[in-house]
Order: sequence, then C-alpha cells, then structure tokens
Amino acid sequence: MQRPPLKHCHECGKAVVYRLPDDGDTKPRAVCTVCHTVHYENPLNVVGTVPTWGDDGAQVLLCKRNIEPRWGKWTLPAGFMELGETTAEGAARETDEEAGARFEMLGLFTVMNVVRVGQVHLFYRARLLSTAFDPGHETIEARLFTEAEIPWDEIAFRTVKETLERYFADRRRGEFGFHTLDIA
Ligand code: ZN
Repeated sequence: MQRPPLKHCHECGKAVVYRLPDDGDTKPRAVCTVCHTVHYENPLNVVGTVPTWGDDGAQVLLCKRNIEPRWGKWTLPAGFMELGETTAEGAARETDEEAGARFEMLGLFTVMNVVRVGQVHLFYRARLLSTAFDPGHETIEARLFTEAEIPWDEIAFRTVKETLERYFADRRRGEFGFHTLDIA
C-alpha cells in the first residue's frame, strides 16, 4: 500500500506542492502554497505476532482477511501501531482484535524495512494459551496450520511469508533467532 501524496495542508487545508523547502533540506516535501507549512512524512510501523500452539510450536495461527487489500488471503495478525502504545503492546492488541486469541508474548522475531511503501514491519513470537479463537470483523476465519498446511500461495503479504519461512526454519534448527530484512 503505497501512501498517496498529500494534497492538502494539515494546518489550513489549502493545496500543497512537493518541492525542496527553503531551509536547505535535501528532500522534496509537501509545502503549503498558502501558509508555507512544511509537512514531514515518515515511515509507519506495522506490528504483529507469530502465534504458535503446542510445546513444539508446530502450529501457527493465521487469519483470513475480511478487509481490503488482499481480501480472502491469509495473514499473521498485524496492523498499524497506534500512538500511546509500545511495539509489543500494538502487536498484542492486533492479535486480540483480529484473532480473539489468548496468548503470552515472547521475543521480537523479525524487523523488516519495506522501503517502497514507507513501512517497518515487526513481528513478535507469541505462545497461544488456548485453541479457542474469537476473530473480529476484520477476519473471516482464524485457524491453526502446520508447516505442511500453510497456504503459501494465498499469503497476503511478503513480510508475513518471510516471517513464516524464518519461523519454520528456526524451529527445524531448534533455536529461534532474530531476523532483519530489507524488502526491495
Ligand atoms: Zn497551509
């Protein structure tokens, strides 16, 4: 989801144009044509979890999306971080909202720069405490998958696929690491 360019000033609502500000800044910014406010746009964080079931973590919880984009595709529970919460709190909130799962948060697992769309995606591992799920309106269905059952061709987002691949690779190795990745 590439963020669309700004059209209107956040201060006065008039039109903005993208140009170099007058202060020596080296990147074009959305500058208001009327009040001259310079708008600085920065990457957004997407936070989520890899919720797993069983002592051996053989099953992973995926959610079938009931919203665009990628309606009907499968994802790990994740969404945009909110102001006033930590990354782990945001990941836990999304897991609660999208899956209605009971779980315990574990360590940070992946951090991925998605430069093209101006996002940073962070996934934490989480241990499910129950297999009863109560998904919210953004989810058609929440269910557990073994590695062999993962619908690899029906995964909604590249960062989810990358995270799942690393989860199962680490699980085979018997040790969970921390992974960073730049998505070209
Ligand atoms: Zn303005």
